[in-house]
Amino acid sequence: MNRISNRIGSIAPSATMAVSAKAKQLAAAGADVVSFGPGEPDFPTPQHVVEAAAAACRDVQNHRYSATAGHQDLREAVAAATSANSKVDVSPSQVLVTNGGKYAVFAACAALLDPGDEVIVPAPYWVSYPWTIHLAGGVAVPVLADQGTGFQITIDQLERAVTDRTKALIFVSPSNPTGAVHSRTKVQELAEWAAERGIWVIADEIYEHFVYDDAEFSSIASFMEDRWVIVNGVAKAYAMPGWRVGWMVGPPDAIKAATGLQSHSTSNVCNVAQRAALAALTGPQQPVADFKAAFDRRRRAMYEALSAIDGVECLVPQGAFYAFPSCSGLLGRSLRGRTINNTLEFADLLLEEIQVAVVPGEAFGAPGFVRFSYALSDDDLAKGMQRLANFL
Ligand code: GLU
Repeated sequence: MNRISNRIGSIAPSATMAVSAKAKQLAAAGADVVSFGPGEPDFPTPQHVVEAAAAACRDVQNHRYSATAGHQDLREAVAAATSANSKVDVSPSQVLVTNGGKYAVFAACAALLDPGDEVIVPAPYWVSYPWTIHLAGGVAVPVLADQGTGFQITIDQLERAVTDRTKALIFVSPSNPTGAVHSRTKVQELAEWAAERGIWVIADEIYEHFVYDDAEFSSIASFMEDRWVIVNGVAKAYAMPGWRVGWMVGPPDAIKAATGLQSHSTSNVCNVAQRAALAALTGPQQPVADFKAAFDRRRRAMYEALSAIDGVECLVPQGAFYAFPSCSGLLGRSLRGRTINNTLEFADLLLEEIQVAVVPGEAFGAPGFVRFSYALSDDDLAKGMQRLANFL
């Protein structure tokens, strides 16, 4: 018998969380670190949201347990926002408020999967998807989209991956880590493919508001009748990653199952954070537009800086706040006496030698690539890109 559960003990800790922790630790020790690591907006949470939370702290109701599925007014606000933005028709009873978007992904997988069920995961994928599927007893089946297609999987690739154990497809557009945004036509094509085969789609819509140039957000759920779950939250759009409020929206049976799970695992999400999320969703939306404008500006600056480096090949990110260049042109080079064999070593070298934190593509199922988050200040972005250019 294993001393520690094999299922849990075999999990590799989240690379994005690890890079973030390491960068913060070095900074706390006095190092001048520039972190392109985590997708964590650098803006403070909007003031009216903070005020709502402060007031909520003083309300004794919020000192007690509340409904597992979430505050009724927040569920109403989530249902309204999802109906409007994702173009689906949902009622508040189809909303489960979760401890961040990450727990919504977990709740969705746990609610849908039986042991051995397969989930198609387009790669490059967000680091936590495969492990979350594993935690829920499922099997992740990565399907690698390459840079030449703009990181978009094809129906042919899906056809080759599907088996009679395929239960679901995870879909994220705008994408973490690639910044790709799928066109409406492409999204519809994927939805129709899944619907025809009776496959669930877990749609991660956390970056829905951050699309640039001509790119448009289209929800895959809007093209499906049933068998879709949307996961989302306030972390990115409202600069609230630390507040831990997300949600899962879907058909009543999936929400009922996930609520049962939550009743035994986390209970209600922190009441104060729920009041803050309500203020974010129902208050002025100007901060979202302001954040988007800043990300757009940083996106251009980052793209230009990365593209100017010999050995780095970058697509123009169309959404979210990540650039995901190929760095395979740098492999085999010797830098400060060390040969770079892979992008894991490259990421280590950057942190050690020039105090620049990035997440290696290995974490996203795409060795040879590196993820750069541009959710950091313009000054830090310029400083980090200059260090990188000088170093390389
Ligand atoms: N989603 C963000 C990222 O990929 C936050 C970190 C995390 O939860 O993994 O950086």
